[in-house]
Amino acid sequence: MKNNCDKDSQFSKQIVQWYIKNGRSNLPWRKNITAYKVWISEIMLQQTQVKTVIPFFKKFVSRYPNLKSLSIANEEEILALWTGLGFYRRAINIYKAKEIILTDFKNRFPKSFDDIVRLPGIGESTAGAIMSIAYQIPYPILDANVKKVISRYESVENDSTNTSNKKLWALSSKHTPSKNIFSYTQGIMDLGATVCHNSKPNCGICPLQEGCKSAFKIKVSKKETKKQNPTKKINYVLARSNDSFLLFKKLEESFWEGLWTPLELDSYHPFPWKDGIKTQEEIAVKHKLSHLNLDIKIKIYSFEKAFKVKTNKKYKWVNKSNIDKYGMPKPIKSIIEKL
Ligand code: SF4
Repeated sequence: MKNNCDKDSQFSKQIVQWYIKNGRSNLPWRKNITAYKVWISEIMLQQTQVKTVIPFFKKFVSRYPNLKSLSIANEEEILALWTGLGFYRRAINIYKAKEIILTDFKNRFPKSFDDIVRLPGIGESTAGAIMSIAYQIPYPILDANVKKVISRYESVENDSTNTSNKKLWALSSKHTPSKNIFSYTQGIMDLGATVCHNSKPNCGICPLQEGCKSAFKIKVSKKETKKQNPTKKINYVLARSNDSFLLFKKLEESFWEGLWTPLELDSYHPFPWKDGIKTQEEIAVKHKLSHLNLDIKIKIYSFEKAFKVKTNKKYKWVNKSNIDKYGMPKPIKSIIEKL
């Protein structure tokens, strides 16, 4: 969806001027910008806050500073670096996308919107951000912050329905300037994150206050009613032999997809080991995902020796010293580190 605007609006000019003075130019992905770094940061920022992303981004680019270094990484190594960031499908998509870039684009990050938007994990908004920030070619974007600013400025619905998304895309396209796209794109994202807050927009310092149809009209909710997430109980069994732990690759398309976990006990997987148990202990831990609370119980069984398992699941005995080489949910990794 290319921007067709040939006359830059007051809206975009105000955002550009504001960004030059107030933008978060210190963010690590805004230094020595490359399409590769914009891509990694944009994927990490999907559904995750900036402050959470910063250490993960730094670690990722220090291990893989460019496509050349990433091209030889396997899926496991990428998932291991993602441990704790959540939404692990994003890491799997980075692996798939870099394989396509290697084979179809001679390991150079594609330069056209149509090629970028076809890569796994990249939607129209992320492709627009890469075009605008890395290549400085104007394309509209529509992430959560941009939706919020534009919907308030224009006083239109922002309820994630197809109709409202279509309207917001058209408005985003209309406001996207033909000049200064780099500052505009980052500026509108920053404005949504740091001024036009969800429950308490700071209209008094907003550069858009004059033209904004919602300025000073957004009601401040005294106490946001926090949506209660459902709780899922999980019963794991973890076999260990000295410092080696028996882990299984989770292949189902749900949370922790692609990660290594102990064996989950359910009606399909009843208790698997009867012989040779030396000791057993139980650990309980609670863990919050963005959409789910997990109530985890892990029964740990010690064995003299590692053994083979009859299963169609992918499994491995992982030594504690190698734990950083595997993608593993944070609570599971913390428990094993302490054992
Ligand atoms: S004036 Fe207020 S509501 Fe409008 S964009 Fe700015 S901060 Fe948001």
